[in-house]
Amino acid sequence: MSSDGTRHPDRTTETAIFDRLVTDRLAEHALRYTMRRRQLVTVLRRVDRPVTLVELMNLASGMPQSSAYRNLALLEEAGVVRRLVHSGVDAHFELAEELIGHHHHLVCGSCGTVEDFTLPVELERALSRAFDSIAENGRFEALHHAVDVYGRCSVCPV
Ligand SMILES: [Zn+2]
Ligand SMILES: [Zn+2]
Ligand SMILES: [Zn+2]
Repeated sequence: MSSDGTRHPDRTTETAIFDRLVTDRLAEHALRYTMRRRQLVTVLRRVDRPVTLVELMNLASGMPQSSAYRNLALLEEAGVVRRLVHSGVDAHFELAEELIGHHHHLVCGSCGTVEDFTLPVELERALSRAFDSIAENGRFEALHHAVDVYGRCSVCPV
């Protein structure tokens, strides 16, 4: 929402704000927003779901795997990209929560797909309270959480 609260920024403005955020993140890590990095970030933003390296390479047509991999690692280091690692499943890549918002993952143990899902606000609050109370003895400060659900997706046979 725009600061005056009267109208939503249009798509061009949204993209400009997004690009500024990414540029700043990278600058904090002494990295530039190069063409390759822009290409990777744009693909992740468009596809709007976690993708494997192979999927990402197909979507970012023509990018050599070594280049994709190296730039993803740097984007991850700068907090722009998040690598999702689940046992028995290929690593998936998506934009960092800071850019796309807090959410959780559904992991299919059969085909290895990873899907995003969000919980209602009141449930997120309840989870945060629960994790805070676990850490209540003061020896641990709960900052954020990651809750993944493992199972079988709708495409996979029973
Ligand atoms: Zn599946
Ligand atoms: Zn996700
Ligand atoms: Zn949560």
